[in-house]
Amino acid sequence: MKGANYIDGRWVEGAVPFETVNPSDLDETVGSYTKVSEEDVRAAMAAARRAQPAWGAFNMQARADILLKAAEIIKARAQDIGLLLSREEGKTLPEGVGEALRAAQCFQYAAGDVVRAQGEWYNSMRDGFNVLVTREPVGVVAAITPWNFPIALPSWKVAGALAYGNSVVLKPSSFVPGCAVMLAQILEEAGVPAGVFNLVMGDGRATGNVMIDEADALTFTGGTATGRTVLARAAETMTKCQLELGGKNALVVLDDADLDLAVDIASNGAWIQTGQRCTGTERLIVTRGIHDAFVERMAKVAASYRVGHALDADTQIGPVANVQQFNENLQFVADAKAEGAQVAAGGGAVEGRTRGLFMAPALLIGTKAGWRCNQHESFGPIASVIMVDDLDEAIHAANACQYKLSSGIATTSLKNAERFRKASQAGMVTVNAPTAGLEYHVPLGGRAPSGYGPRETGTAAADFFTESKTSYINHGAI
Ligand code: NAD
Repeated sequence: MKGANYIDGRWVEGAVPFETVNPSDLDETVGSYTKVSEEDVRAAMAAARRAQPAWGAFNMQARADILLKAAEIIKARAQDIGLLLSREEGKTLPEGVGEALRAAQCFQYAAGDVVRAQGEWYNSMRDGFNVLVTREPVGVVAAITPWNFPIALPSWKVAGALAYGNSVVLKPSSFVPGCAVMLAQILEEAGVPAGVFNLVMGDGRATGNVMIDEADALTFTGGTATGRTVLARAAETMTKCQLELGGKNALVVLDDADLDLAVDIASNGAWIQTGQRCTGTERLIVTRGIHDAFVERMAKVAASYRVGHALDADTQIGPVANVQQFNENLQFVADAKAEGAQVAAGGGAVEGRTRGLFMAPALLIGTKAGWRCNQHESFGPIASVIMVDDLDEAIHAANACQYKLSSGIATTSLKNAERFRKASQAGMVTVNAPTAGLEYHVPLGGRAPSGYGPRETGTAAADFFTESKTSYINHGAI
C-alpha cells in the first residue's frame, strides 16, 4: 500500500507527501500518505470507466458474494479499523469499533440489494405490447467524503455503488484517510476486480473537479458551502448528484416530556462523539414550564463528562478532530457570548494528559432563534437553548433556520408528536430519540440546503445508483 492511493488495482505513490496527527495527542503522527496529481486522478477515472461494463455484467451471485466477503473482513478487523479511526479522527475506541461494525453492516445490506428484484413489468395501452421498466448502473461514481465518519461514510457510498454494478473512485478527507486505505485493501482482498474500486487522495477542489467532470454520478458528503461549489461544477457536465450537507438540528422539549428521557436524548444528540455528527443536536427548543429543570440537569450532565484521550478506557468524549475545527468551536462560543448567550456549562479548552484538542461540552442558554449561534452550524460539542411558550412557537423556531437535516421532539403526547412530525421541514424526524443515530436500511438525508438530490442509503439507494430504462415491446411483431 505504498503511497496509499489505489488506481486500477495498483498502489500508487503521489508526489506530495502528507501526514496525519492524532487529535488526542498532537505529538503523535498517525499516518503518512501522498497526494496524487490530476493526471493520476484522470487515470483512476479512466480505469473506472474501463472496468465498469464488466462489473455491471458480473454474475449477480458472485457480486453479492464479494460484497458479503468485504463485510466479513471488515467485521473481523473491526478492532484494528476502530483503533486507527480513534487515533486519526478522535472518536473513543468503542465509538470507532462501532463505526467499523456499521460499515460491515452497510456491505452486508448492499450484498442483499444485488440479488433483490429490480424492474417492473406493465401492461401496455397498445394491443400486443408490454412495457418494461428496468434499472441499469449509473456508470462511474465519484464519492467524496468528510472527516467525521472515516469508515462508515465511504463504506455506505462504495457498497451502494458497487451493489448496483457501478465502478467507484473515492476521495476521502485528507484529515482521516487511513480507514479508506484499509477499505481499499479489504476490497482488493474480497475480490473486487482491478479498476472497479479506486482510491485517490488530493486537494478537494483540484481532485474533486476532475472527478466531477469525468464521472456519471457524484455522491458527496460535506459542508453546505462545499456542496454548493460541487453542485455548480456538476451542472457544467450535468453529472448526476446527490449531496448530504450541513445541519443545525433542533430538539424540541415540551412541558409534558419525560424529563429523564429528554435529558438523556438531548445530551446524547448534542455532545456524544464530540458533537461531530451532521445529525447532532445543536438547538434545544424548550417550553417555559420545563425549561429551568431541563437546563439544570443538562448543565450537570455536561460537566460530568470525562473528556480526554480517545483511547483511555474511561473517556466519554474524545477530542475535537482537528485544529481548524477546534479553533472554530472556541470562536463559536466566544461569538455566542458576544451576542448575549450565557454559558451554563463548558465551552472552553480542557487540559488532558496529552497535548490534545480537548473541549468541554458547552451548553449555551438565554439564546433566541434568530441569533447567529442558532443559524450557523458549529459542528462541535455545543448546544444552545431557546426558551419558547408552546408547541406552535417551538415548531416555528425549529423551522426558522436554513438547515433542514434532522429534528426531534421529546413529549409524552402522541398528538404533539404527530403535529411536530408533520410540521417539521427536516428530512428526518425523531420522537423521543436523539436527532442523531440513524439506520442504514432507510433513506438518510436532508432537504436543501442540508441535502440535494436522491438519498443514497437503504431503500433509496437504487434511485441514485441506477438509471431507469423504459422499454416498449411489440410482441405482435415477433
Ligand atoms: P468539507 O465540505 O470541508 O469537505 C468534505 C469533502 O469535500 C472533503 O473530502 C474535502 O476534501 C472535499 N472538498 C473540499 N472542497 C472541494 C471541492 N471544491 N470540490 C470537491 N471536493 C471538495 O466538509 P468537512 O469539514 O470534511 O465535514 C464536515 C461537514 O460535513 C459538516 O458540515 C457536516 O454537517 C457535513 N456532514 C454531512 C453529513 C450528512 O449526511 N448530511 C454527514 C457527515 C458530515
